[in-house]
Amino acid sequence: MHHMTLAEIARGLADKKFSSEELTKALLARIAQLDPQLNSFISLTEELALSQAKAADARRANGESGALLGAPIAHKDLFCTQGIRTSCGSKMLDNFKAPYDATVVAKLAAAGTVTLGKTNMDEFAMGSANESSHYGPVKNPWNLEHVPGGSSGGSAAAVAARLLPAATATDTGGSIRQPAAFTNLTGLKPTYGRVSRWGMIAYASSLDQGGPLARTAEDCAILLQGMAGFDPNDSTSIDEPVPDYSASLNGSLQGLRIGVPKEYFSAGLDPRIAELVHNSVKALEKLGAVIKEISLPNMQHAIPAYYVIAPAEASSNLSRFDGVRFGYRCENPENLVDLYKRSRGEGFGAEVQRRIMVGAYALSAGYYDAYYLKAQKIRRLVKNDFMAAFNEVDIILGPTTPNPAWKLGAKNSDPVAEYLEDVYTITANLAGLPGLSMPAGFVDGLPVGVQLLAPYFQEGRLLNVAHQYQLNTDWHTRTPTGF
Ligand code: GLN
Repeated sequence: MHHMTLAEIARGLADKKFSSEELTKALLARIAQLDPQLNSFISLTEELALSQAKAADARRANGESGALLGAPIAHKDLFCTQGIRTSCGSKMLDNFKAPYDATVVAKLAAAGTVTLGKTNMDEFAMGSANESSHYGPVKNPWNLEHVPGGSSGGSAAAVAARLLPAATATDTGGSIRQPAAFTNLTGLKPTYGRVSRWGMIAYASSLDQGGPLARTAEDCAILLQGMAGFDPNDSTSIDEPVPDYSASLNGSLQGLRIGVPKEYFSAGLDPRIAELVHNSVKALEKLGAVIKEISLPNMQHAIPAYYVIAPAEASSNLSRFDGVRFGYRCENPENLVDLYKRSRGEGFGAEVQRRIMVGAYALSAGYYDAYYLKAQKIRRLVKNDFMAAFNEVDIILGPTTPNPAWKLGAKNSDPVAEYLEDVYTITANLAGLPGLSMPAGFVDGLPVGVQLLAPYFQEGRLLNVAHQYQLNTDWHTRTPTGF
């Protein structure tokens, strides 16, 4: 049962081949058996899952239908889940039970999904390796000595290991696309504002966006359908109708203009990944696409700009964790200042503290103009580069990451080396554009992803291209040995 995609599960449930309860029990047993190797879950929600599965079966028996009705999923542990621990991968929130459901969680529950649990993640979604979690690192099912990517590494490892068909994730600088690339999944970061951020614990509010992680573009379309839409509770949510994403999958690629930025093929890119990117370009050309070289001249400034803006916003967002209102509180505080200092010093891990310090520094009176304001100007230039490129092409294609998944611990002593791995993903967040990573081959037995970027609200176009590619390639069907 565990090999089925969301689309196959939907057909099986509709044809009464099995019930959601049977499927849920089978997957919970599989998680209990295999997850100890991966550490992809922070919390399991067996009771909730079984009651949701029974309710979904009852709804079907009453004549209701829907691709998500009875579908088992999991949520990244930064989506608030009412009455259930929502830790954000942090000791700070280890004891935090959210008092309400995030909009994404509520929408998916209403569509009939079954929540198996909450997935592991980098602390407060800061990282590219899923090593900064208070609950320990997540292992990559393709090679247990390697990282699964981050920050949505738990969602990615669980889906890649066939513990469940799909999961929610979030992407501030690549945290959906990069773990998708590292674990042979398809992951979509929607346009900023397409998916509600209400009840998603904030990292960098102007960059954060929730989206689906699954094995295929077809499944991403199904899950995104349940997540997307206007939410009056999120002032940056956009009031645009949600198209039928599954209907967009089958368009022809004849004449589709694909831009390949020349800056992507610089010295930092593993030449074996460059070759796989070229192979994917050839495969899409065969389907009728037309390839054009383009330029994104400000790309080189994106990492420094992102690593000023994201920490600046984080330093503000995380100020609410003060030992008074949420989460961890130190023992026997001597006075209020001691309470703040020790609660935050003990509750936050090293990477989170580093980001808070960088962010507070960049925002301080003497340095605001030099760092934060300059970074915002670069952000506009990065966006302008994309706007110019999309006057000439319909899609931009390139590698998702410069290297395949590295070994656990390999970058722990050098945070900047880890930041540099985000070079291809962060520009979409700075510009607010939608991006998708899809499986495109292997290097040393480790998966490699190709990234597609599209103009605002063209998620359907990304899913269309990825689906047509997947109809003509079989990378996405490969399964890690032992799972
Ligand atoms: N690696 C990036 C960071 O640490 C992106 C993380 C994310 O998208 N949540 O900020």
